[in-house]
Amino acid sequence: MTGTRTCTHILGFPRIGAQRELKFAQEAFWRGEADETYLREVAATLRARHWQLQRAAGLDFVTVGDFAYYDQMLGMSALLGALPRRFGFNPATLTLAQYYELARGNAAQPAMEMTKWFDTNYHYLVPELTRDTTFNGGVDWFFDEVDEALALGLRVKPVLIGPITWLRLAKTQTPGFDRLDLLPKLVNRYVRIVEALKARGVEWIQFDEPALGLDLEDEWLSALGAAYGTLGECGVKILLATYFETTADHAAAIARLPIDGVHLDLVRAPAQLDAWRARLPESMVLSAGVVDGRNIWRSDLRAIVQSLLPLRAELGERLWIAPSCSLLHVPVSLEGERKLDADLKSWLAFATEKLDEVRTIALALDDAPAAEPALAEADAARASRRTSGAVVNALVQKRVAAVTDEMASRKSAFAERNRLQREALRLPALPTTTIGSFPQTPAIRQARAAYKRGELKALDYLERMRAEIELAVRRQEALDLDVLVHGEAERNDMVEYFGEQLWGYAFTENGWVQSYGSRCVKPPIIYGDVYRPEPMTVETTRYAQSLTNRPVKGMLTGPVTMLQWSFVRDDQPRAATALQLALAVRDEVVDLEKAGIRIIQIDEPAFREGLPLRRADWPAYLQWASRAFRISAAGVADETQIHTHMCYSEFNDILPSIAAMDADVITIETSRSAMELLDGFGAFSYPNEIGPGVYDIHSPRVPTTDAIERLLQRACEVIPAERLWVNPDCGLKTRGWPETEAALANMVRAAKNLRERL
Ligand code: GLN
Ligand code: ZN
Repeated sequence: MTGTRTCTHILGFPRIGAQRELKFAQEAFWRGEADETYLREVAATLRARHWQLQRAAGLDFVTVGDFAYYDQMLGMSALLGALPRRFGFNPATLTLAQYYELARGNAAQPAMEMTKWFDTNYHYLVPELTRDTTFNGGVDWFFDEVDEALALGLRVKPVLIGPITWLRLAKTQTPGFDRLDLLPKLVNRYVRIVEALKARGVEWIQFDEPALGLDLEDEWLSALGAAYGTLGECGVKILLATYFETTADHAAAIARLPIDGVHLDLVRAPAQLDAWRARLPESMVLSAGVVDGRNIWRSDLRAIVQSLLPLRAELGERLWIAPSCSLLHVPVSLEGERKLDADLKSWLAFATEKLDEVRTIALALDDAPAAEPALAEADAARASRRTSGAVVNALVQKRVAAVTDEMASRKSAFAERNRLQREALRLPALPTTTIGSFPQTPAIRQARAAYKRGELKALDYLERMRAEIELAVRRQEALDLDVLVHGEAERNDMVEYFGEQLWGYAFTENGWVQSYGSRCVKPPIIYGDVYRPEPMTVETTRYAQSLTNRPVKGMLTGPVTMLQWSFVRDDQPRAATALQLALAVRDEVVDLEKAGIRIIQIDEPAFREGLPLRRADWPAYLQWASRAFRISAAGVADETQIHTHMCYSEFNDILPSIAAMDADVITIETSRSAMELLDGFGAFSYPNEIGPGVYDIHSPRVPTTDAIERLLQRACEVIPAERLWVNPDCGLKTRGWPETEAALANMVRAAKNLRERL
């Protein structure tokens, strides 16, 4: 064809290793069983392996700097020399052990705050800034990695988190201090880093600026101009990488920067290409992020190539091909999957397979006949998925088509339901309950593992779980809790447990994705129409209820959380999948009611996580998400009380939507903010009942009766006592029994004390 070669690269590769090698090395180091040399060796081996994969796939660069011993933002802070003062560490001599103290806390200092990376399930450590934060010293680890790759003779493209994103995601506790004031000092430090890379002969540097996908005020756009105005003059080519959202409204500002290329996420935001077509300066490369870095489906290669042809004709060699974002968010390789259904497996592409997809797209643009066999193979996989009987379920389609607005609301309004529920349940004021799970003891875990290995028979396993349920019920009775739970002993994970019983869900053996530090999750895959063939929790809940006269609360995971913590279909909108999940949960809710369960909790801890990055897109999401919840809940009679639970959240800006979910009771995490979170509910006049968490379950510390009573007192000032419940912040599965019993005993006592004073 034209004889040119389309440049290919990735923004980043998963660092954890196909077998979670990094996790195990980290944890061995933390336990003192392995030394720093060992950990560094494991890390170097993983990096070399991942670069090798990129080279073997024929990519034009290897990406260096995507590795992190815990987190990429912490790594950037360490490189910048900007560490929280409170630890007293010298950034020039920071050791790995100290780096982990920043991430995990030590005897004197709590860990740096951790929060979600944009709208992903990855968590980063939030930089802490003060007026006098300096950017001196800084560790050399990043440069060592660059040298490592150069020594292997590779063409290296280093990646750094850009100054705007780093600063934007940082927090400061100094009142009246604007973190943008630090920009000049920060940029100076970046300049020195760029110069050090230039001295190594590096040609291109990738600056990750996902913050450009957010709503940005003018002063941040000027900061962008100032930062890259300087960095662009350093004599190294800069690729500004944006992802997760459209940059169309910032395109004019970005196009003015003296940089050499921009990367766009054309999977999430394909429409931004139009804005960029008109604006891309002739001096700039456009890196097209066309392979989905956030999901696990094989790409429609032919459609992608087709859509890129005009761009390729316009831009020639200035068009680069890449995944939409770092591959950090997908598992490493399909190679480790021996048990997946063969058809399903042929529809998937994990990080390693995506490298080949990127290369195939470029090849198809350069030399169509050479790419034809690979395109044909991708076509066949797509066709098999499109026509597979496992994906479409006529029964589900019919039910979805028959959903009415009526199904999305309870029969009566809250006031009437509340009256009927009070009559039916006869609970005391300030009723006490828990969020669902009780300690997952080693015995429970061992039993489950033995069962999964086939060493424990189904009936024996069931007996063991029943014994655990009975134990939990007896202990709750002894504690004199008002509303009991069965304790979730049989659940490994609140999504997996349900997914395993639903049609349309699949599970991988090794599909690990880093969540934070050494913690990895294995999100299930929703590949087809979701259907509940039979009841999932009815037997267990009925058994628990048979043991006691107190009400036992049924415990389910809500549709939005099921969606949010899974890899989802890309062949229908998220809202459509949420609706199918809602119908499955609804069936279960109705069956629980039929079995005599009078209180049912539908957990939605991930409700807020689903919010789009741009405010303008919030209303649409909130509308379908709260409707999905209502559909899951509204199949029952007025007398049946529906609870929901949310945690890790700010709620204040979405309170109308939380109210629109219309749960009879919501339990929320509040104790870490000393009930401050509840103020929003008060100010908004949240209409239904609320259980603000009265103690933090993340710590083994046992709260005193006094402390709980004070929190409850404070809650009563904001919410009328007749609408308050008393419960911990979240489930107790990570705790031990002794501290759990002690804490709950104090909680019950506090509630009783306060009741007397009402
Ligand atoms: N019912 C669940 C539990 O108690 C809720 C967990 C959560 O909110 N993440 O474990
Ligand atoms: Zn929770």
